[in-house]
Amino acid sequence: MREWLQGPATRSRLRGSLYAGAIGDALGAKTEFDSIDRIREIAGPAGITDLIPAYGGVGRITDDTQMTLFTLEGLIRAHAAARREQGTFAIAAPGEPVVQSLQLAYQRWLHTQGVSWERARGPENTSTDPDGWLITNRELFSRRAPGLTCFSELEAYGKTGVRAGMDKPVNNSKGCGGVMRAAPVALWSDDLAEVFRLGAESAALTHGHPSGYLSSGAFAVIVHELLTGKPLLDAVAIARAELEKYPGHEEQSVALDQALALAHEGAPTPEKLETLGQGNVGETALSMSVYVALATADPNVALLASVNHSGDSDSTGSVCGNLVGAMYGEEELDTDWLVKLELAEVIGELADDALAEFGGNAPGDDRWYARYPAH
Ligand SMILES: [Mg+2]
Repeated sequence: MREWLQGPATRSRLRGSLYAGAIGDALGAKTEFDSIDRIREIAGPAGITDLIPAYGGVGRITDDTQMTLFTLEGLIRAHAAARREQGTFAIAAPGEPVVQSLQLAYQRWLHTQGVSWERARGPENTSTDPDGWLITNRELFSRRAPGLTCFSELEAYGKTGVRAGMDKPVNNSKGCGGVMRAAPVALWSDDLAEVFRLGAESAALTHGHPSGYLSSGAFAVIVHELLTGKPLLDAVAIARAELEKYPGHEEQSVALDQALALAHEGAPTPEKLETLGQGNVGETALSMSVYVALATADPNVALLASVNHSGDSDSTGSVCGNLVGAMYGEEELDTDWLVKLELAEVIGELADDALAEFGGNAPGDDRWYARYPAH
């Protein structure tokens, strides 16, 4: 049991992290990969200053948020299963149950994207339907420009049942599809080496380049530290120290250093942000998000700054949102955005379930284990 997870401050930070990630995702949903000039044409000279319609409505989230929710669901299920079976829970390592639980959570996400359960579930899974509470939320069944790497690697797992990992890279992709979904891994443990490793392994299921998975490990550690109330600069320093232990870390380490240096130069602008990159690969999705979070003093200002650039706006919005939401808490988020946010109730419920499971307050009854069944 981890008492620090039980207080109101942690609840506010966790809910804030998930809500703000979803808000950033929604703010950037319409303009993913539009140039800043095009964004100014669509949204006005100041760029995006509010939610604008995308995917048929205002406040609609994309694959970044969908997959983040499945990450959290997979973690809760792995924890609940271990608690039920052993009275304890397994630590993160390749081959250990939590990584498989995340794989299967992502296979459920794949099913929400229009792939039949028979093709999505994997050859060793004989269940006739996907189970658990999360997937009963029909709003998740919607394609929002899902990342091709995630989609195709999960489809491949559906065929072969072969799970990838850091020691068995699935491809050479460093796309941001791993880091964008990794924030919930922060909850798995208070051992930061474990949090980093599981963050990286969760991304390595679909992304085989070090910058595609180490970004995810570093991000999970930063979010962990923010949830405990540490300042962002300290959180980044701690994550960077862990990052350096891994082969192939240099690209991500340099990207983080560039973000820290740029943060000394005042408020963010699209032009400054674009000097760090496009946010479509792991290392810059993280570095651009860290930069914006460091260079602002208000989560809503940060959310807007994180999507106004020519790159992968919904992913930097999502990753930066996970950071600033954890830093400032849910009460500081724009209530108008929260009211309009798709899936807001599901996000809040899942966050509270996670706090119950990881904070030691989860029920041990059949209803809970049907909501979060094993694997
Ligand atoms: Mg997206």
